[in-house]
Amino acid sequence: MIMISYMTIARKRDCYILQQSLLANFFEPPRGKARLGDSHRLSLFPPKSIMRPTRGAFMGFFRKPQDDKREQVQPLQEELETLRGSVEASSMPASAKEVSVKELDRVAKMHPDSSDYTIGITYIDYLLSMPWGVQTEDNLDLQRAQEILDQDHFGLQGVKERILEYLAVRTLRTQRPFRLLVVDDEAIARKNLDHILTKEGYQVATAATGMEALELIRSTPFDLVLTDLKMEKVDGLQVLAHVKEVNPDTRVILITGYATVDSAVQAMKQGASDYIAKPFQLEEVRAAVSKALERRRQEQEIKGPILCFVGPPGTGKTSLGRSIAKTLERRFVRISLAGLKDEAEIRGHRRTYAGAMPGRIIQEIRRTGYVNPVFMMDEVDKLGQEFKGDPASALLEVLDPEQNRRFTDHYLDIPFDLSKVMFILTANITDPVPAPLLDRMELLTLSGYTDEEKVQIALRHLIPRQIRENGLSDFPPQFTEEALLRIIGDYTREAGLRNLEREIASVCRKIAREFVKPDAKRESIRTGPEQVSLYLGPRRYYHEVAEEGDRVGVTTGLVWTESGGDIVFVEATLMKGRNELILTGSLGDIMKESAQASLSFLRSHATRFGIPEDCFRGRDIHIHVPAGAIPKDGPSAGVTIAMALISLFTGRPARRDVALTGELTLTGRILPVAGVREKLLAAQRAGVQAVVLPRKNQVDVEVLPQRIRSALRIHLIESLAEAVDIVLQPAPPA
Ligand code: ADP
Repeated sequence: MIMISYMTIARKRDCYILQQSLLANFFEPPRGKARLGDSHRLSLFPPKSIMRPTRGAFMGFFRKPQDDKREQVQPLQEELETLRGSVEASSMPASAKEVSVKELDRVAKMHPDSSDYTIGITYIDYLLSMPWGVQTEDNLDLQRAQEILDQDHFGLQGVKERILEYLAVRTLRTQRPFRLLVVDDEAIARKNLDHILTKEGYQVATAATGMEALELIRSTPFDLVLTDLKMEKVDGLQVLAHVKEVNPDTRVILITGYATVDSAVQAMKQGASDYIAKPFQLEEVRAAVSKALERRRQEQEIKGPILCFVGPPGTGKTSLGRSIAKTLERRFVRISLAGLKDEAEIRGHRRTYAGAMPGRIIQEIRRTGYVNPVFMMDEVDKLGQEFKGDPASALLEVLDPEQNRRFTDHYLDIPFDLSKVMFILTANITDPVPAPLLDRMELLTLSGYTDEEKVQIALRHLIPRQIRENGLSDFPPQFTEEALLRIIGDYTREAGLRNLEREIASVCRKIAREFVKPDAKRESIRTGPEQVSLYLGPRRYYHEVAEEGDRVGVTTGLVWTESGGDIVFVEATLMKGRNELILTGSLGDIMKESAQASLSFLRSHATRFGIPEDCFRGRDIHIHVPAGAIPKDGPSAGVTIAMALISLFTGRPARRDVALTGELTLTGRILPVAGVREKLLAAQRAGVQAVVLPRKNQVDVEVLPQRIRSALRIHLIESLAEAVDIVLQPAPPA
């Protein structure tokens, strides 16, 4: 490998020479006694008793820099020549070689101590260490891909199907033999071309006249047409014009015995990709065809969308990415976009900056050593925050297959082909993703898991992994389903599986600790709910809903956040004041507007809801949403807020175990909401019994698995009035 750092070698060697000369000049072994193998020769610094400065030592130590320079010139020359040889031998494209050689010439004229010299050498070193054109062979066995995806992941049928479709399309595209058409009125030339191209593995059709060619072009989509220029009636240029009209992507190579500069120029102008003069060499034809088709292959490869896995944390986005890499037998790379603050972290710094470095993309590609890894970019939804420059355009340059073939990192300063990389993005939610990026992505949604699914995933995947990682394979603990449900219910509150896995790991560690105690019996132990409580300590979460009583002015709402669904409590109170609406708590701007719209709607329809007209006068209304871990926003709290206000004004307690979601317009219409599945899962986790959803969300409910639907009573409403008796208890007797 040419990846060895020449700088490092040079520096190490310099140090070594300096060390040797210091030792040789400064310390002379005691005369007459020294023999090879004596102890002082073995250690770097001999014992004090035998250290004696030589006469020339100080001279050598304080030599003038010019003398050093003279000594340095020879090895540096060699070093530069070695580098030059490596550049010549490397698989860099010609343009990169040219840049490297130029840089070497520039560096050769510099003083080796100058910083520019170091920068130049480091740069060439970097270019040499890039994996130009080095790629792994894809394994496109779809049967195997399916097995790996199924082995690694429980459920996720829709997503797995889509991944397999994606791979199938790639396979078809890359494995389909190219269709070629040879048009020549000269039988021998036609036969020869047919013969050599068929031998190359192409599907070849032939036409003896331009007319015949036009017919074939209309009926078959060819990848490449090789046509003679001079033919009777319909000539090569007409064939070319026709091809470009019917299928502009088809490549055309013109072949002629009457090659003139003019005809060549005209053909190229009309869109021909090459021009071959008769009599042609076989090699020449082969090369021209393969060049034209290489472009075509690249075009075919690039036309796929960019996959983006969207879902709450811990739902398997990363592990799906890893599985894809495993099935294709490619390397897997993962970076997070969330931490990126500057465009230079994607595109690199120019070399003129002190401490300039390439961007993360080039760094990672270099690290993997291949140009075609599966490259996962996490948290594309967090990219915009605090980013200097335009994140979308910087990323599109990397991701967009039209542009990334010639991706130019500022540090490398020459295009590097990223078109072979398979990029996969991940996001928790798509709202913050810039539209131009979103446009290029195909979204694959992974939603949260039900408790039953979590138990199955834990039993099949998480527990076996933690048992292996914690050295318990010989005496694997037997987790019961009840134990897992206890961990899920009392120690985690999440849509995904991260904390569940962490808690299982924690139990395994505790068991491992027991095993290493003196006299401990090492055997497979049954781990039930009691052991879980013992190992994990007091429970961390409570069913907030089931364990709280119903109250006036407090309703339960369902929200959708980036970590999945969640419940919120909306609290409303009334007090003497100046007709003001006070809003506090973790309310975003949209939620505040929903609160105002809800209040206005209720004020204008007070009688319909049995609200005394005078209850607004001389009072302040305060709405509060207690802060959760993540601030919530969005219009879907409208119905929940309105119901808290109705409860407050009518004095009817609101049921805690009925959760609401729905957008309320100023005129009282109820609009559908997003994230129904996530919200229903969150409701279940919190112990909610019934949910109230907009009627317009009926379709979202119908596509949910039966076990999610049957775990809750679902009420679909069209107007606020329909929710009143579902949510509010009768007013207590006065
Ligand atoms: P994300 O990238 O979405 O945050 P991860 O891929 O890191 O989530 O998943 C967290 C853990 O849960 C990993 O150990 C992963 O293997 C596991 N996991 C998630 N979904 C599944 C599934 N459907 N089947 C098996 N394991 C899963």
